Amino acid sequence: MIRSNEHYAGLSGSYLFAAVAAKVQAHKEKSRALPVISLGIGDVTQPLVPTVVSALHSAVEEMAQASSFRGYGPEQGYAFLREAVAAHDYRSRGIDIRAEDIFISDGSKCDVANIQELFSLSSRVAVTDPVYPVYVDSNAMAGRAGTWNGQRWSDLIYLPCTEENAFVPDFPAVVPDVIYLCYPNNPTGTVLSRDALTGWVDYARRHHALIIYDAAYEAFIHEDSDIPHSIFEIPGAEEVAMECRSFSKTAGFTGLRCAFTVIPSSVTVTGPDGNPVRLRDLWQRRQSTKFNGCAYIVQRAAEAVYSQQGLREIHAVIRSYMKNANRIRAGLESLGLSCWGGVDAPYIWAKTPHGMGSWEFFDRLLGQASLVCTPGAGFGPSGEGYVRFTAFGTDADTEEALGRMKGLSL
Ligand code: PLP
Repeated sequence: MIRSNEHYAGLSGSYLFAAVAAKVQAHKEKSRALPVISLGIGDVTQPLVPTVVSALHSAVEEMAQASSFRGYGPEQGYAFLREAVAAHDYRSRGIDIRAEDIFISDGSKCDVANIQELFSLSSRVAVTDPVYPVYVDSNAMAGRAGTWNGQRWSDLIYLPCTEENAFVPDFPAVVPDVIYLCYPNNPTGTVLSRDALTGWVDYARRHHALIIYDAAYEAFIHEDSDIPHSIFEIPGAEEVAMECRSFSKTAGFTGLRCAFTVIPSSVTVTGPDGNPVRLRDLWQRRQSTKFNGCAYIVQRAAEAVYSQQGLREIHAVIRSYMKNANRIRAGLESLGLSCWGGVDAPYIWAKTPHGMGSWEFFDRLLGQASLVCTPGAGFGPSGEGYVRFTAFGTDADTEEALGRMKGLSL
Protein backbone atom coordinates (compact mmCIF):
# COMPACT_ATOMS: atom_id res chain seq x y z
CA MET A 1 0.00 0.00 0.00
CA ILE A 2 1.38 3.39 -0.91
CA ARG A 3 0.74 5.91 1.82
CA SER A 4 0.65 9.61 1.08
CA ASN A 5 3.03 12.04 2.75
CA GLU A 6 1.14 12.66 6.00
CA HIS A 7 2.38 16.23 6.10
CA TYR A 8 0.26 17.11 3.07
CA ALA A 9 -2.89 16.21 4.99
CA GLY A 10 -2.80 19.26 7.26
CA LEU A 11 -2.12 21.79 4.51
CA SER A 12 -4.57 24.63 4.14
CA GLY A 13 -3.37 24.47 0.54
CA SER A 14 -4.53 26.77 -2.18
CA TYR A 15 -7.58 27.80 -0.17
CA LEU A 16 -6.99 31.51 -0.66
CA PHE A 17 -6.82 31.72 -4.45
CA ALA A 18 -9.28 28.85 -4.93
CA ALA A 19 -11.78 30.62 -2.67
CA VAL A 20 -11.25 33.92 -4.52
CA ALA A 21 -11.74 32.19 -7.90
CA ALA A 22 -14.93 30.45 -6.72
CA LYS A 23 -16.42 33.69 -5.45
CA VAL A 24 -15.51 35.51 -8.67
CA GLN A 25 -17.08 32.74 -10.76
CA ALA A 26 -20.29 32.83 -8.70
CA HIS A 27 -20.43 36.62 -9.07
CA LYS A 28 -19.96 36.41 -12.85
CA GLU A 29 -22.85 33.96 -13.15
CA LYS A 30 -25.14 36.14 -11.05
CA SER A 31 -24.27 39.59 -12.34
CA ARG A 32 -23.30 40.14 -15.93
CA ALA A 33 -23.67 43.93 -15.93
CA LEU A 34 -20.02 44.84 -15.29
CA PRO A 35 -16.99 42.83 -16.42
CA VAL A 36 -14.88 41.77 -13.47
CA ILE A 37 -11.52 43.55 -13.09
CA SER A 38 -8.88 41.92 -10.94
CA LEU A 39 -6.60 44.07 -8.82
CA GLY A 40 -5.77 40.91 -6.92
CA ILE A 41 -3.46 39.13 -9.32
CA GLY A 42 0.27 38.99 -8.75
CA ASP A 43 0.99 38.41 -12.44
CA VAL A 44 2.25 40.98 -14.89
CA THR A 45 0.19 42.15 -17.87
CA GLN A 46 2.70 43.95 -20.09
CA PRO A 47 4.56 41.95 -22.75
CA LEU A 48 8.29 41.27 -22.84
CA VAL A 49 10.32 44.33 -23.86
CA PRO A 50 11.77 44.44 -27.43
CA THR A 51 15.39 43.90 -26.36
CA VAL A 52 14.44 40.69 -24.56
CA VAL A 53 12.36 39.48 -27.50
CA SER A 54 15.22 40.12 -29.88
CA ALA A 55 17.67 38.19 -27.61
CA LEU A 56 15.21 35.30 -27.56
CA HIS A 57 15.01 35.26 -31.37
CA SER A 58 18.81 35.27 -31.70
CA ALA A 59 19.15 32.45 -29.18
CA VAL A 60 16.54 30.40 -31.01
CA GLU A 61 18.55 30.89 -34.22
CA GLU A 62 21.67 29.65 -32.42
CA MET A 63 19.78 26.57 -31.30
CA ALA A 64 18.78 25.93 -34.92
CA GLN A 65 22.40 25.57 -36.12
CA ALA A 66 24.58 22.53 -35.39
CA SER A 67 27.56 24.82 -34.82
CA SER A 68 25.88 26.86 -32.07
CA PHE A 69 23.34 24.39 -30.69
CA ARG A 70 23.43 23.89 -26.89
CA GLY A 71 22.26 20.83 -25.01
CA TYR A 72 22.34 20.52 -21.24
CA GLY A 73 23.82 23.64 -19.73
CA PRO A 74 25.65 24.07 -16.42
CA GLU A 75 23.24 23.40 -13.52
CA GLN A 76 24.38 26.59 -11.84
CA GLY A 77 23.64 28.67 -14.94
CA TYR A 78 25.75 29.95 -17.83
CA ALA A 79 28.73 32.06 -16.85
CA PHE A 80 27.57 34.93 -19.14
CA LEU A 81 24.42 35.41 -17.04
CA ARG A 82 26.05 34.85 -13.65
CA GLU A 83 28.72 37.41 -14.58
CA ALA A 84 26.06 39.90 -15.70
CA VAL A 85 24.11 39.47 -12.45
CA ALA A 86 27.24 39.85 -10.30
CA ALA A 87 28.32 42.98 -12.18
CA HIS A 88 24.98 44.77 -12.49
CA ASP A 89 23.05 43.76 -9.40
CA TYR A 90 25.93 43.64 -6.92
CA ARG A 91 29.32 45.05 -7.91
CA SER A 92 27.65 48.19 -9.32
CA ARG A 93 26.39 48.81 -5.77
CA GLY A 94 29.77 48.10 -4.22
CA ILE A 95 28.78 44.60 -3.06
CA ASP A 96 31.40 41.87 -3.35
CA ILE A 97 29.36 39.04 -4.85
CA ARG A 98 31.11 36.81 -7.38
CA ALA A 99 29.65 34.79 -10.24
CA GLU A 100 30.48 31.57 -8.31
CA ASP A 101 28.05 32.65 -5.57
CA ILE A 102 25.15 32.85 -8.03
CA PHE A 103 22.80 30.02 -8.97
CA ILE A 104 20.47 30.60 -11.92
CA SER A 105 17.12 28.84 -11.74
CA ASP A 106 13.74 28.76 -13.43
CA GLY A 107 12.02 30.71 -10.67
CA SER A 108 12.27 32.06 -7.17
CA LYS A 109 9.24 30.11 -6.11
CA CYS A 110 11.14 26.83 -6.49
CA ASP A 111 14.25 28.29 -4.87
CA VAL A 112 12.48 29.58 -1.76
CA ALA A 113 10.46 26.36 -1.55
CA ASN A 114 13.39 23.97 -2.14
CA ILE A 115 15.99 25.57 0.08
CA GLN A 116 14.39 24.17 3.26
CA GLU A 117 15.51 20.68 2.18
CA LEU A 118 19.00 21.66 3.30
CA PHE A 119 18.02 22.18 6.91
CA SER A 120 17.47 19.64 9.66
CA LEU A 121 13.83 18.81 10.35
CA SER A 122 14.35 20.09 13.87
CA SER A 123 15.23 23.61 12.65
CA ARG A 124 12.98 26.33 14.03
CA VAL A 125 11.58 28.47 11.23
CA ALA A 126 10.38 32.06 11.55
CA VAL A 127 8.14 33.77 9.00
CA THR A 128 6.73 37.25 8.91
CA ASP A 129 2.95 37.38 9.23
CA PRO A 130 1.30 38.10 6.77
CA VAL A 131 3.55 36.10 4.48
CA TYR A 132 4.12 34.82 0.93
CA PRO A 133 2.55 31.37 1.56
CA VAL A 134 5.29 29.33 -0.17
CA TYR A 135 7.71 29.63 2.78
CA VAL A 136 5.09 28.23 5.13
CA ASP A 137 3.70 25.49 2.93
CA SER A 138 7.09 24.15 1.82
CA ASN A 139 8.14 23.75 5.45
CA ALA A 140 4.78 22.20 6.32
CA MET A 141 5.15 19.68 3.48
CA ALA A 142 8.54 18.66 4.85
CA GLY A 143 7.07 18.14 8.33
CA ARG A 144 8.79 21.08 9.98
CA ALA A 145 5.70 23.15 10.79
CA GLY A 146 3.89 20.96 13.33
CA THR A 147 0.11 20.92 13.32
CA TRP A 148 -2.33 23.34 11.74
CA ASN A 149 -4.99 24.72 14.05
CA GLY A 150 -7.02 26.44 11.33
CA GLN A 151 -5.11 29.70 11.74
CA ARG A 152 -1.46 28.90 12.35
CA TRP A 153 1.13 26.12 12.51
CA SER A 154 2.16 24.99 15.98
CA ASP A 155 5.92 24.86 15.31
CA LEU A 156 6.44 27.95 13.16
CA ILE A 157 7.49 31.21 14.73
CA TYR A 158 5.24 34.02 13.46
CA LEU A 159 6.59 37.55 13.31
CA PRO A 160 3.52 39.80 13.16
CA CYS A 161 3.77 42.81 10.86
CA THR A 162 0.92 45.20 11.50
CA GLU A 163 0.11 48.87 11.78
CA GLU A 164 1.18 48.71 15.47
CA ASN A 165 4.82 47.91 14.67
CA ALA A 166 4.81 49.88 11.39
CA PHE A 167 5.15 46.52 9.58
CA VAL A 168 8.67 45.99 10.94
CA PRO A 169 8.92 42.55 12.56
CA ASP A 170 10.11 42.42 16.17
CA PHE A 171 12.63 39.81 17.32
CA PRO A 172 10.75 36.75 18.57
CA ALA A 173 10.73 35.33 22.10
CA VAL A 174 11.96 31.96 20.79
CA VAL A 175 15.19 32.13 18.76
CA PRO A 176 14.74 30.71 15.23
CA ASP A 177 17.35 28.89 13.15
CA VAL A 178 15.96 30.05 9.82
CA ILE A 179 14.29 33.42 9.18
CA TYR A 180 12.42 34.24 5.97
CA LEU A 181 12.36 37.94 5.18
CA CYS A 182 10.81 39.34 2.00
CA TYR A 183 11.44 42.99 1.11
CA PRO A 184 9.92 44.85 -0.63
CA ASN A 185 7.20 42.76 0.91
CA ASN A 186 4.53 40.68 -0.67
CA PRO A 187 1.75 41.12 0.43
CA THR A 188 2.10 44.40 2.39
CA GLY A 189 4.22 46.39 -0.08
CA THR A 190 6.27 47.69 2.86
CA VAL A 191 10.07 47.94 2.96
CA LEU A 192 12.77 47.59 5.63
CA SER A 193 15.01 50.56 6.32
CA ARG A 194 18.75 50.05 6.36
CA ASP A 195 18.69 50.27 10.19
CA ALA A 196 15.94 47.67 10.54
CA LEU A 197 17.66 45.26 8.16
CA THR A 198 20.97 45.81 9.97
CA GLY A 199 19.17 44.88 13.19
CA TRP A 200 18.07 41.56 11.66
CA VAL A 201 21.52 40.79 10.25
CA ASP A 202 23.09 41.48 13.67
CA TYR A 203 20.42 39.30 15.31
CA ALA A 204 21.18 36.43 12.91
CA ARG A 205 24.91 36.79 13.60
CA ARG A 206 24.35 36.75 17.38
CA HIS A 207 22.26 33.58 17.18
CA HIS A 208 23.95 31.84 14.24
CA ALA A 209 20.64 31.90 12.38
CA LEU A 210 20.24 32.04 8.60
CA ILE A 211 18.23 34.74 6.82
CA ILE A 212 16.59 33.75 3.54
CA TYR A 213 16.09 37.13 1.93
CA ASP A 214 13.51 37.19 -0.84
CA ALA A 215 14.10 40.31 -2.91
CA ALA A 216 11.78 39.43 -5.81
CA TYR A 217 10.54 43.06 -5.90
CA GLU A 218 13.89 44.82 -5.52
CA ALA A 219 13.52 46.54 -8.90
CA PHE A 220 10.49 48.46 -7.63
CA ILE A 221 12.51 50.38 -5.02
CA HIS A 222 12.85 54.04 -5.99
CA GLU A 223 16.42 54.79 -6.93
CA ASP A 224 16.54 57.88 -4.72
CA SER A 225 15.34 56.15 -1.54
CA ASP A 226 17.74 54.82 1.08
CA ILE A 227 16.16 51.37 1.16
CA PRO A 228 18.65 48.51 0.69
CA HIS A 229 18.24 46.70 -2.62
CA SER A 230 20.15 43.70 -1.33
CA ILE A 231 20.73 42.25 2.11
CA PHE A 232 24.40 42.09 1.13
CA GLU A 233 24.57 45.88 1.42
CA ILE A 234 24.53 45.23 5.18
CA PRO A 235 27.95 44.47 6.71
CA GLY A 236 28.14 40.90 7.99
CA ALA A 237 25.21 39.64 5.89
CA GLU A 238 27.64 37.64 3.76
CA GLU A 239 28.05 35.31 6.76
CA VAL A 240 24.38 34.76 7.64
CA ALA A 241 22.21 35.43 4.59
CA MET A 242 21.28 34.17 1.17
CA GLU A 243 19.22 36.14 -1.32
CA CYS A 244 16.65 35.16 -3.94
CA ARG A 245 15.75 37.37 -6.87
CA SER A 246 13.63 36.89 -9.94
CA PHE A 247 13.23 38.29 -13.46
CA SER A 248 9.48 37.61 -13.15
CA LYS A 249 8.27 40.99 -12.00
CA THR A 250 11.44 42.90 -12.88
CA ALA A 251 11.27 42.05 -16.58
CA GLY A 252 7.94 40.30 -17.19
CA PHE A 253 9.39 36.76 -17.08
CA THR A 254 6.49 35.15 -15.18
CA GLY A 255 5.80 32.98 -18.23
CA LEU A 256 9.41 32.72 -19.42
CA ARG A 257 10.91 31.69 -16.04
CA CYS A 258 14.28 32.84 -14.79
CA ALA A 259 15.56 33.74 -11.33
CA PHE A 260 18.67 33.44 -9.22
CA THR A 261 19.82 32.69 -5.71
CA VAL A 262 22.96 34.11 -4.17
CA ILE A 263 24.79 32.13 -1.48
CA PRO A 264 28.18 33.55 -0.53
CA SER A 265 30.77 30.90 0.28
CA SER A 266 31.18 32.42 3.77
CA VAL A 267 27.67 31.28 4.82
CA THR A 268 27.86 28.08 6.84
CA VAL A 269 25.45 25.83 8.67
CA THR A 270 26.34 23.25 11.31
CA GLY A 271 26.87 19.73 10.00
CA PRO A 272 25.95 16.48 11.82
CA ASP A 273 29.44 16.29 13.34
CA GLY A 274 29.19 19.84 14.69
CA ASN A 275 31.54 21.26 12.07
CA PRO A 276 30.57 24.09 9.71
CA VAL A 277 29.37 23.16 6.23
CA ARG A 278 29.20 25.68 3.40
CA LEU A 279 25.58 26.28 2.49
CA ARG A 280 26.50 26.95 -1.13
CA ASP A 281 28.05 23.46 -1.36
CA LEU A 282 24.83 21.87 -0.10
CA TRP A 283 22.77 23.89 -2.56
CA GLN A 284 25.17 23.01 -5.39
CA ARG A 285 24.79 19.34 -4.46
CA ARG A 286 21.02 19.63 -4.35
CA GLN A 287 20.70 21.53 -7.62
CA SER A 288 23.07 19.26 -9.52
CA THR A 289 21.00 16.26 -8.44
CA LYS A 290 17.50 17.62 -8.89
CA PHE A 291 17.75 20.44 -11.44
CA ASN A 292 19.07 20.47 -14.99
CA GLY A 293 19.36 24.17 -15.56
CA CYS A 294 17.29 26.99 -16.96
CA ALA A 295 16.84 27.05 -20.75
CA TYR A 296 19.71 28.60 -22.74
CA ILE A 297 17.40 30.89 -24.70
CA VAL A 298 15.83 32.13 -21.47
CA GLN A 299 19.23 32.85 -19.94
CA ARG A 300 20.18 34.84 -23.06
CA ALA A 301 16.91 36.77 -22.66
CA ALA A 302 17.75 37.47 -19.02
CA GLU A 303 21.24 38.63 -19.99
CA ALA A 304 19.66 41.11 -22.41
CA VAL A 305 17.77 42.70 -19.52
CA TYR A 306 21.14 44.09 -18.34
CA SER A 307 22.02 45.79 -21.63
CA GLN A 308 21.65 49.58 -21.61
CA GLN A 309 18.63 49.41 -23.88
CA GLY A 310 17.15 46.47 -21.95
CA LEU A 311 17.40 48.38 -18.69
CA ARG A 312 15.80 51.47 -20.24
CA GLU A 313 12.90 49.37 -21.51
CA ILE A 314 12.23 47.43 -18.31
CA HIS A 315 12.45 50.59 -16.22
CA ALA A 316 9.78 52.17 -18.41
CA VAL A 317 7.50 49.18 -17.73
CA ILE A 318 8.22 49.28 -14.00
CA ARG A 319 7.46 53.02 -13.96
CA SER A 320 4.10 52.38 -15.58
CA TYR A 321 3.20 49.74 -12.97
CA MET A 322 4.29 52.14 -10.24
CA LYS A 323 2.07 54.81 -11.75
CA ASN A 324 -0.81 52.36 -11.29
CA ALA A 325 0.34 51.74 -7.71
CA ASN A 326 0.24 55.46 -6.98
CA ARG A 327 -3.19 55.88 -8.46
CA ILE A 328 -4.62 52.86 -6.65
CA ARG A 329 -3.23 54.00 -3.32
CA ALA A 330 -4.56 57.54 -3.85
CA GLY A 331 -7.96 56.15 -4.89
CA LEU A 332 -8.20 53.98 -1.76
CA GLU A 333 -7.06 56.82 0.49
CA SER A 334 -9.69 59.09 -0.99
CA LEU A 335 -12.24 56.55 0.23
CA GLY A 336 -10.83 57.06 3.73
CA LEU A 337 -8.81 53.83 3.87
CA SER A 338 -5.38 53.68 5.53
CA CYS A 339 -2.85 52.26 3.08
CA TRP A 340 0.74 51.07 3.07
CA GLY A 341 3.05 50.07 0.25
CA GLY A 342 2.69 51.14 -3.37
CA VAL A 343 5.76 53.41 -3.11
CA ASP A 344 8.71 51.00 -3.33
CA ALA A 345 6.61 47.94 -4.22
CA PRO A 346 3.82 47.04 -6.63
CA TYR A 347 1.50 46.03 -3.77
CA ILE A 348 -0.86 48.21 -1.76
CA TRP A 349 -2.02 46.97 1.62
CA ALA A 350 -5.22 48.63 2.77
CA LYS A 351 -6.90 48.47 6.15
CA THR A 352 -10.58 47.63 5.91
CA PRO A 353 -12.92 50.27 7.36
CA HIS A 354 -14.94 49.94 10.60
CA GLY A 355 -13.14 46.74 11.66
CA MET A 356 -14.62 44.90 8.68
CA GLY A 357 -13.19 41.43 8.02
CA SER A 358 -10.97 40.91 4.95
CA TRP A 359 -13.48 38.62 3.27
CA GLU A 360 -16.42 40.92 3.98
CA PHE A 361 -14.53 43.77 2.28
CA PHE A 362 -13.68 41.48 -0.62
CA ASP A 363 -17.38 40.55 -0.99
CA ARG A 364 -18.49 44.18 -0.97
CA LEU A 365 -15.90 45.24 -3.54
CA LEU A 366 -16.87 42.38 -5.80
CA GLY A 367 -20.62 42.76 -5.24
CA GLN A 368 -20.80 46.54 -5.68
CA ALA A 369 -18.10 47.19 -8.29
CA SER A 370 -17.09 43.82 -9.80
CA LEU A 371 -13.55 44.46 -8.55
CA VAL A 372 -11.27 41.79 -7.11
CA CYS A 373 -8.71 42.30 -4.35
CA THR A 374 -7.01 39.66 -2.20
CA PRO A 375 -8.23 39.22 1.38
CA GLY A 376 -5.32 39.74 3.77
CA ALA A 377 -6.49 36.94 6.08
CA GLY A 378 -5.33 34.48 3.40
CA PHE A 379 -1.71 35.51 4.00
CA GLY A 380 -1.70 34.73 7.73
CA PRO A 381 -3.52 35.61 10.93
CA SER A 382 -2.12 39.15 11.09
CA GLY A 383 -3.51 39.82 7.61
CA GLU A 384 -7.09 39.81 8.93
CA GLY A 385 -8.61 43.26 8.59
CA TYR A 386 -6.49 44.11 5.55
CA VAL A 387 -6.72 43.54 1.79
CA ARG A 388 -4.05 43.53 -0.92
CA PHE A 389 -4.24 45.38 -4.23
CA THR A 390 -1.68 44.91 -6.98
CA ALA A 391 -0.45 47.38 -9.57
CA PHE A 392 0.13 44.81 -12.31
CA GLY A 393 -3.15 45.44 -14.17
CA THR A 394 -3.27 47.24 -17.48
CA ASP A 395 -3.57 51.05 -17.49
CA ALA A 396 -7.08 50.81 -18.88
CA ASP A 397 -8.28 48.32 -16.25
CA THR A 398 -6.71 50.34 -13.45
CA GLU A 399 -8.38 53.52 -14.72
CA GLU A 400 -11.75 51.79 -14.98
CA ALA A 401 -11.33 50.21 -11.51
CA LEU A 402 -10.58 53.60 -9.96
CA GLY A 403 -13.69 55.09 -11.53
CA ARG A 404 -15.81 52.28 -10.11
CA MET A 405 -14.29 52.65 -6.64
CA LYS A 406 -15.58 56.21 -6.39
CA GLY A 407 -19.13 54.88 -6.17
CA LEU A 408 -18.44 52.38 -3.37
CA SER A 409 -20.34 52.51 -0.13
CA LEU A 410 -18.21 50.87 2.54
N1 PLP B 1 8.80 35.54 -4.03
C1 PLP B 1 7.76 36.37 -3.87
C2 PLP B 1 7.70 37.21 -2.67
C3 PLP B 1 6.75 36.41 -4.82
O1 PLP B 1 5.72 37.23 -4.65
C4 PLP B 1 6.84 35.59 -5.97
C5 PLP B 1 5.80 35.59 -6.99
O2 PLP B 1 4.75 36.13 -6.90
C6 PLP B 1 7.92 34.74 -6.08
C7 PLP B 1 8.90 34.73 -5.11
C8 PLP B 1 8.02 33.78 -7.21
O3 PLP B 1 8.65 34.29 -8.29
P1 PLP B 1 8.99 33.41 -9.57
O4 PLP B 1 8.02 33.80 -10.63
O5 PLP B 1 10.41 33.73 -9.88
O6 PLP B 1 8.83 31.95 -9.21
